Amino acid sequence: MRLLLLGGTSEARELAVLLVEAGVDVTTSLAGRVARPRLPVGKVRIGGFGGVPGLRAALASYDAVVDATHPFALGMSANAAAACRADVTPLLRLERPGWDPDPGWHHAATHEEAAERAAALGERPFLTVGRQELARFVPELGRRAVLARVVDVPELTLPDTWSLRTSRGPYTLDGELDLMGGHRADVLVTKDSGGAYTWPKMEAARMLGVPVVVVRRPPGPAGVPTVHDVAAAFAWVADLG
Ligand code: NAP
Repeated sequence: MRLLLLGGTSEARELAVLLVEAGVDVTTSLAGRVARPRLPVGKVRIGGFGGVPGLRAALASYDAVVDATHPFALGMSANAAAACRADVTPLLRLERPGWDPDPGWHHAATHEEAAERAAALGERPFLTVGRQELARFVPELGRRAVLARVVDVPELTLPDTWSLRTSRGPYTLDGELDLMGGHRADVLVTKDSGGAYTWPKMEAARMLGVPVVVVRRPPGPAGVPTVHDVAAAFAWVADLG
């Protein structure tokens, strides 16, 4: 069994551990966006495939695919669905559940809508939406005292009123309280990433009385069997033999 595991998440790294222990020939694929990625066990390949045609060509070396990319990595998931359908390669989506919604959260369908909501709610936003999305917040928040937290420094030239914090989860409640309190953040913006690594900021916001804007998950590709935890994904691979 040669398995291609589309990664970039903690769940993908956990699944790789189980698969390697079980003797599965697993190759994790990373996009190469992060300068110093956390590497999983097993084989690793880094970089895009070159769209659906490139992925289809790569599938010749694999018997099955698990798409364990981030819930907001829509392009890769769509490509995986299209390539595996065309190639009749078994594909499973492993997607961590979103956070249980709090009735006090402000939901937004897009990052632009989240920017509008944040502008209405505060003067000192704390943006935790990822480097690639920051540009979408500049029109609404370009003059606010934004604190943006990212893993790697963005290519975008940030507005003068913005400050940048580079770090990578998991985060602690004490650390989040310090960071948000130190900035005097009055609104938090996040994707509905789910999982435990980035949850402490939500708890900190609740404790500090800071409103939270949550960008909803976009729908993933239709018709792809989906599981929500690593054990279920492991069972799916084991069943393939
Ligand atoms: P994306 O927009 O869905 O993907 C854009 C392109 O990047 C894909 O078409 C593909 O290029 C390449 N790519 C993405 N994931 C890949 C992978 N695992 N292996 C090889 N190529 C990959 O993805 P994204 O939102 O930029 O995310 C990139 C990676 O970061 C993902 O692997 C994801 O799991 C991880 N990540 C994303 C987020 C987020 O908020 N989006 C957060 C944490 C981690 P080709 O078309 O050339 O194949």
